[in-house]
Order: sequence, then C-alpha cells, then structure tokens
Amino acid sequence: LEAKRTKVGVLVFDKHLEAQVAAENLLHREINKAVEEEQFCVHFQPIVDTTTLQVLGLEALARWEFNGRLREPREWLDYAETSGLIVAIGNMTFRKAFAATERFDLPVAINLSARQLAEPTIVEDLAAAWGDRDWSMLTVEITEGALLQDEQQTVSMLAQLRSRGARIALDDFGTGYNSLARLATLPIDILKIDQSFVRNMSSPPGLAVLRAIVALAAAHDLEVVAEGIEQVFELETFVELGVRRAQGNMLGRPAAAVPVR
Ligand code: C2E
Ligand code: MG
Ligand code: MG
Ligand code: MG
Repeated sequence: LEAKRTKVGVLVFDKHLEAQVAAENLLHREINKAVEEEQFCVHFQPIVDTTTLQVLGLEALARWEFNGRLREPREWLDYAETSGLIVAIGNMTFRKAFAATERFDLPVAINLSARQLAEPTIVEDLAAAWGDRDWSMLTVEITEGALLQDEQQTVSMLAQLRSRGARIALDDFGTGYNSLARLATLPIDILKIDQSFVRNMSSPPGLAVLRAIVALAAAHDLEVVAEGIEQVFELETFVELGVRRAQGNMLGRPAAAVPVR
C-alpha cells in the first residue's frame, strides 16, 4: 500500500510539473516573440495632488499587447525577471515612455528592475533616451526587493543617476525587508507607500502604521506618494496625514497617452 501511494503521489506530481513546464514554455516562446516584435507599449498613470487633484506627474507602466488584449505585468513580470528579458522589455518601455511624454511639461517616473540597473550601460542608455531634457523631471522607481539584490551595484547606479539630477523613489515601500535604519544611507528622494497599507488603513493599527511611515519619511526628508487610492475616505485620510501626492484608480487609471494634434 505504501509503495502504491508513493507511485500515485509521484504520478500526480509529474503531471502537475509537466503542465507547468508546458505553460512556461509557451509563455517563453510568446514573450520572446513579443520582445522581437516590440509588442510592448506603455500606459501612464497620473500622480495627483491630494488637495487640488492637479496632475503632478506621470508613471509609465509596461503593457504587453497580446492578441488584442493587454497583459499586465503580474502575468509576465516574474518570468521576465528570471529569464532576463526584463532588460529588453524595460529598456523598450522607458524609450517609448520618454518619446510619448516629450511634449508634456510634466515629470515622468519609470520603473527599473535590479537586472536593468546591473547593466553596465544603463546610465548611458537612459541618457541617450532622455536626451537634453531636464533630469530633475525624471524619477526612477525601484522596489525594496530589487535594491537588496546586488546592493552595491544598484546603489552605485542610483547614485550616478541622482548626481545627474534624476530623483529616486523607493517603490512598494514596506513590503520588502529593508531595515528602517538603512533609509538614511540609501540614495533616495521619495517613498511610495504600497497599496497594501491603504487597504488596511480603516483599522486603528493600520492607520498607526501609516502615520509611522509618514513620520519616518519626514524625518528623512523624503517626499511621500500614496499608491492605490480607490476610495474617497482613503484620499481624505492621506490629506489629514499631510501626504500631498497620490496615485490610484479613483484619481486616474493607467491609460495610453492620446496623441495630440
Ligand atoms: P508599481 O510600480 O507599484 O505600479 C503600481 C501598480 O498598481 C500598477 O500595476 C497599477 O496599475 C496598479 N494600480 C494603480 N492604482 C491602483 C488602484 O487604485 N488599485 C489597484 N488595485 N491597483 C492600482 P501594474 O501596471 O500591473 O504594474 C505592476 C508592477 O509591475 C509595477 O508596480 C512595477 O513594479 C512593475 N512594472 C510595470 N512596468 C514596468 C517596467 O517598465 N519595468 C519594470 N522593471 N517594472 C515594471
Ligand atoms: Mg495592474
Ligand atoms: Mg512604480
Ligand atoms: Mg508600487
């Protein structure tokens, strides 16, 4: 009986693995083709003033146009990261983002992965795509997790971008394993509060955590951007907390930039 059980177990496990491998192979073929054929485009989400609702900037977000629908990063980002394809996809995204926003007089934020920052040519590549625009109009967002991988290399690249005048934002703040003590030594200007904190703000402990993050940012002279605002009371809470910048579906969903004649 024991052996039979094991056999069944192994069989089930193999089937599952086979299906998973097949799905991965399919995604692998599709995404490689998508990179070659530049099936990636950029959507922009506004960063908004919480009191006036004025648009203060735009964040560029990668989208994969696949058979007439858009595939969001959560469907392919992990694979793009582990396979290294994120370098080609991410570079394509910022090039397209810079081209599309050239005529707007607004700050632009892009997301970079650790893999992109590990490329020795990343600063040159960004500079070539950014052209002669004012570097203070560019924000580079990096997640805490990405910052921890290959930390020295990443920090040195971020410092180079910052010395040109670009601003650095720590994305999804609070979801990684960054120690609070290290905030003081990182080359960053902005904290983006992850939307998971917004989802928990209606409980007293959840609100206390937000308050603490805002105080921490102030103590380090960092600007704060709240992410994932979906409801009016969330916006109002951030206004009360003194947070002046926010993003979220209620304030503006990511959308393609419409060409202006
Ligand atoms: P992120 O930079 O934190 O971007 C915010 C994500 O939250 C976006 O998801 C956006 O669509 C979503 N979002 C905005 N407002 C709301 C809201 O009110 N409610 C909810 N539930 N979600 C909201 P998206 O576009 O799927 O991107 C996911 C992540 O993928 C990004 O997180 C970013 O880390 C990564 N990513 C996107 N584009 C690029 C890229 O070009 N390069 C790299 N390296 N990473 C990228
Ligand atoms: Mg999304
Ligand atoms: Mg971001
Ligand atoms: Mg985020």
